[in-house]
Amino acid sequence: MAGIYIHVPFCRQACHYCNFHFSVSRKHTDRYLECLLREIDMQRNFFGEPSGGKPNLDSLYFGGGTPSILEVGALNKVFEKLSDYFSFGSQTEITLEANPDDLDREKLQALKQSPVNRLSIGIQSFHAPDLAYMNRIHDPAQAARAIDNALAAGFGNLTVDLIYGTPTMDDHVWKNNLQKFIDYQIPHLSAYALTVEPKTPLAVKIRRGQMPPVEEERTALQFELMVEVMDRAGYAHYEVSNFARSGQFSRHNLSYWTGKSYLGLGPSAHSFRPGQRWWNVSNTGQYIASVSEGVLPCETEILTSAQQFDEYVMTSLRTMWGCALDKVEKNWGRARREMLVKQSAGHIRMGWMVETAGHLVLTPKGMLFADRVASDLFWGK
Ligand code: SF4
Repeated sequence: MAGIYIHVPFCRQACHYCNFHFSVSRKHTDRYLECLLREIDMQRNFFGEPSGGKPNLDSLYFGGGTPSILEVGALNKVFEKLSDYFSFGSQTEITLEANPDDLDREKLQALKQSPVNRLSIGIQSFHAPDLAYMNRIHDPAQAARAIDNALAAGFGNLTVDLIYGTPTMDDHVWKNNLQKFIDYQIPHLSAYALTVEPKTPLAVKIRRGQMPPVEEERTALQFELMVEVMDRAGYAHYEVSNFARSGQFSRHNLSYWTGKSYLGLGPSAHSFRPGQRWWNVSNTGQYIASVSEGVLPCETEILTSAQQFDEYVMTSLRTMWGCALDKVEKNWGRARREMLVKQSAGHIRMGWMVETAGHLVLTPKGMLFADRVASDLFWGK
């Protein structure tokens, strides 16, 4: 089973914390769409030459940027082109990232007639000062209306993004945001700590003293608060930043975390097949120029065995299923397994990790330090 990610590099307004590839100018939209269709042609055999029919897609994900900026007619053209080479079953998860200001009733009705069967809504907060701090385009009323409209249009398979740790958000506000989400009975939440990436407008404003800084301690406490609240509400904390009810995990994200092949299309999109990864140029003009000349706009890297091990440790530890010691032994040998167990002893003593049924699994406390723990267990350590 395979997954496809499509990057849509256009937004209506720049959020101050964002370091994804996007542009607020939409002058390249038509050329981008033409090139996207062409790139699909060029990458049709990414999952291998089909012998017995088209490869089945487990998931298709439109991310960005703001994919909901596109007309539904444009999305349908992408679906038609993809269907020439790939097959969509009734089980294929087809997600569209959407911003609240795009989700009016008319748009949602049109989306409901398209193959999209899951919406990922970038709410980030229901609290106006947080939205202003992040320079989000929508207000709390639009956030609530977008969810109401999506549910009324029949999109039961929803996921919402929330952000915590902004200086404008105290624990009470964060709890309220989580409670609002829970009250909607939405099956999936992705919640991210606000991070200040270098060179973003937020980083510049904080450096100049125009915005209050983000405090690590507040972020850590709000992570713990979230774990507690979501657990009480019956959501499985299945990845550091993701929670799901009734097994409604994101298939798209699971393919990243479980090492399945995926194809990325559009500027800045990444692709992966076991042992190799690719990344498209992070520049829409260069992407258009390259695809127009029939050249794939990507660079590639063959992963060494050590890199593959590090990637497995990093991604598996972030999930509730953890790092499978049998898999480590099968792929990297008994000595590596023994080394990993030895290296984990300190983290187990600190209460950050447990060994259970042959898996190394982070505790809720350890999840807070997932990247640090993983890097302590890397090949060269
Ligand atoms: S809408 Fe998303 S991609 Fe666009 S600027 Fe905001 S965070 Fe970045």
